[in-house]
Parts: sequence; C-alpha cells; structure tokens
Amino acid sequence: MRFDIATLFPDMLESYLSQSVIGRARAKGLFEAECHNIRDYTLDKHRRVDDTPYSERQGMLMQCEPIYRCWQAVCDMTRSQPHVIYMSPQGKTLTQKRCTELAQMPHIMLLCGHYEGVDQRILDKIVDEEISVGDYVLTGGELPALTLIDSVVRLLDGVLAEQDSFVDESHYSGLLEYPQYTRPEVWRGEAVPPVLLSGHRANILKWRHEQSLLNTAKKRPDLLENYPLSEEDLSIITKGVGTFDNK
Ligand code: SAM
Repeated sequence: MRFDIATLFPDMLESYLSQSVIGRARAKGLFEAECHNIRDYTLDKHRRVDDTPYSERQGMLMQCEPIYRCWQAVCDMTRSQPHVIYMSPQGKTLTQKRCTELAQMPHIMLLCGHYEGVDQRILDKIVDEEISVGDYVLTGGELPALTLIDSVVRLLDGVLAEQDSFVDESHYSGLLEYPQYTRPEVWRGEAVPPVLLSGHRANILKWRHEQSLLNTAKKRPDLLENYPLSEEDLSIITKGVGTFDNK
C-alpha cells in the first residue's frame, strides 16, 4: 500500500512516519509513504501557495494550482490515480470501519490543508472524499493525516507483532476492549481478576466478552445500538455483572 501526502510541512509528517511501529513497518517495506511539499509546485517566484479569500473573510486560503501540480506529479510518478482524501473538519468522521476499508486500497493521496483551508475548485477537481478526525478545528491537516495513516497501517499484514491483535481492540467488533492487567498479580492490595490466572481458555474468552459488554455499556452505550446483542449479552448488561467475580 502506498500513501502520498501533500502538505506544506513535510518534516512534521516525516518525523512521525520514521519512528516506532509505523517507522519500522515503513522501513520493512510493509507500506510506502512519500511526503510532498506543495510549495515545491508553485509557479510563484516568491514560492507563495496562498492568497486572500474572495468572501472578504480574514485569513488566507491555499490556492488550486500548486496542489493540482503536486497531484499531477504524484499521478505521473506512480503511473496511477490515487484515491484522494482531503483531511477536513467538514468530512465524515473517521471510524474503525472506514480504516478497514481504506486498508484494502492500493494507493491513497492525502491533502493537508492549512490556514483557512483550500480553494473549493481544487476539491471539486481532484478530491474523492473528505475525512474528519472529529468535530473540532485544528490548525492543519497534518495531525489528521497521521491519524489516518497510523490507524490504517496497523491493520496491514505484518505491522503488529501479534498478527490480528487488533481484532480484540476497541471498535473493531463494535465493542470497547475489556480491561487489561499485567504483573504483579497483586499491586498495592489490588489483585488481577482470578479467572485470568486460571489458565482456563474458554472462561478467559467468556470473561473478555462479558467485560467488553460491560465496559461499552458504561463508557459508550451509544455503540451498543449498532451491536448485535444476544439474549445473554442483554442479560449481562441489564444486570451489570458477568459470570466471573472480578475480586
Ligand atoms: N475554514 C475551515 C472550516 O471551517 O471548515 C477550517 C480550516 S482549518 C483551520 C485548516 C486545515 O486543517 C483544514 O484545511 C484541514 O485540512 C485541517 N483540519 C482542521 N480540523 C480538522 C479536522 N477536524 N479533521 C481533519 N482535518 C482538519
């Protein structure tokens, strides 16, 4: 899978994309990412990429031509037409489901806006979809682009040490994850739930599911509206307890 990212601040992205899990996956060639400085594509002798909006609003807007030339260069260089996403607070909110769909795409180009945003005409010309990371406004599209890349790349084969470990994580199945514990078995008088020390795999799986249900009901009850609850699930949620005593 390949990402091309059009930005005015490639260094912001490069730093993140070359470290930790994502950096190692990139170094191993599990995905490709190339950042393109939109300023390199301006024809303006002062390397300007923005101008004032016609709407008499304060602030500056990114112009069409440098972004168009950047997109054209990516198409020429890769000999493909990427799926183009504009990171925007006006887009649909990114979800785990959309991340899973995007992870199937061979080539994605992300456009990061800045200042007051981008001239509408370039969005109409090259953008396939707008994606938001939440109902709030950031100063630029770089953090949203990194959020999208990170959440998609960790779903690719070989990226996480434990293959498929994301399947149990929050949102993948529609529920939140169950509580997690590590050593020591007793910390300041607080013990790990005994079922987790039992070695009884079926009981541990049952505990995980019950705790996921209870955790979701407590923290994000809205998610349960779209989850196919069984009779047993409903009874666990209604009673607010599972089969296993956590003490
Ligand atoms: N004037 C724009 C509006 O009201 O819709 C907001 C522009 S914002 C200050 C600058 C850039 O940050 C946007 O072009 C977009 O790329 C990015 N951005 C800001 N908030 C975002 C969000 N919630 N999700 C994705 N991108 C965002």
